[in-house]
Amino acid sequence: MVSDQKRLGAQDDPAITAEVEQLLARRTRDIRFSGEIERLFRARVWSQTAKIIRAWMMWVAVLDVLTLALYMVILPRAIAVSMLLPGAIIPPVVIAVVLAWRKPRPSWLQGPTLIAGMFLILFSVALVGVSAGGEFYERHLNIMLFVAITAIIIFGIPLAWTMTIAALALGLYLIFQLQNPAIELGSAVAATLFFASGVLATIAARRIMTILAQKTFLFELRDRRRVAELAKANARLELLARTDPLTGIANRRWMTETLDHLWGNDKRCLDGAAMLMCDIDHFKKLNDHLGHAEGDRCLVEVARIIQENVRRDHDHVARYGGEEFLVILPGVNEEEAVFVAERIRKSVEAAGFPNPGSRVSRRVTLSIGVAVQTSEEAISPEQLQRQADAALYLAKQTGRNQVLLHRPDSAERKHSQSTRSAARR
Ligand code: GH3
Ligand code: MG
Ligand code: MG
Repeated sequence: MVSDQKRLGAQDDPAITAEVEQLLARRTRDIRFSGEIERLFRARVWSQTAKIIRAWMMWVAVLDVLTLALYMVILPRAIAVSMLLPGAIIPPVVIAVVLAWRKPRPSWLQGPTLIAGMFLILFSVALVGVSAGGEFYERHLNIMLFVAITAIIIFGIPLAWTMTIAALALGLYLIFQLQNPAIELGSAVAATLFFASGVLATIAARRIMTILAQKTFLFELRDRRRVAELAKANARLELLARTDPLTGIANRRWMTETLDHLWGNDKRCLDGAAMLMCDIDHFKKLNDHLGHAEGDRCLVEVARIIQENVRRDHDHVARYGGEEFLVILPGVNEEEAVFVAERIRKSVEAAGFPNPGSRVSRRVTLSIGVAVQTSEEAISPEQLQRQADAALYLAKQTGRNQVLLHRPDSAERKHSQSTRSAARR
């Protein structure tokens, strides 16, 4: 329901939040709703209220028809027939009110429809007795007040509507009693005042029920806001726990989760995957010569370059250690993996960050160990990582600034000798 969605959004509105807290700080009997919070409350309770009103209306119509039918059987014909016309008012009125209250409509339409419907129903009940006369006159006026009181107590509608219905019932009672030939003026007024006190007590009870429902609604709004805040805080914490604060990319923990997810329960990566273990060459020297802050800037840039050279929606990049980055390329073969690794290595070198202390180049360079698991193989992520580490180790041992592919049968294979030579110049 649209109103439900609006209500869910309301917990984020600071004005509503402030009003909820302010209303909850009051004594229960001093709770008063107005403006937006009143609208939200009405939207929240509408369907329940409408259901009660419709059910009440239907029962009144059924009882009206049954009563008239019974009167036709047990009363003298002339009296029973005189009741038929006034009694026939109720069914069409009930149908009109039920239709008006089938779905939410503006309150300027729904309120008057209900009040007019109630007036016609009360009028009909009274008129049945007035038309029959005699003992029925007084009896039906009492039934009419009883009908009004049941509506007042069970209809969770705004207080003004409740009071209007009460005033209409008492007004009808007084007018018809004044017309009652069997009753003196003083007696009619006294009886009206007597019933008025009962009706007022009923309105007071109705009001307490409404205030308690409003207080429950305030607690509900507060709970929703707190749950939403908690969920947001949890999501933020979850992200913080999985993200590297310096580079903003995934951290080791996140990468471990990703590997577990990719390898699944049966510990097999069904589509195959390549792992790239990337390590900045002589990074310690960069820190030593240019300072830790410059080192940090370099790490951020290298992370960015690696991300730019992989598929955003397929591949995974994580800062795995101090100046080590781990890349997972799902579903690629050896050739493609080495191609991507080479592209990353070249891009870092081409970026030209200074590393004056490096023994490989004056610029920042990267060594990358590559290991590939084909879809037929059953290699665990840990095994694959050991292979990528071994390839990286060899790349470091044999000159740095190069990509080496792990070969299960032989030693790691060198891939970028020529670029490394160029970088040395
Ligand atoms: P190699 O080519 O063999 O990899 O040499 P390396 O100097 O890069 O490797 P080593 O492991 O000796 O040094 C890594 C350095 O990375 C040491 C550490 O001070 C630095 N480091 C680790 N984390 C950070 C960080 O967050 N910021 C900065 N600026 N430096 C870091
Ligand atoms: Mg290292
Ligand atoms: Mg290093």
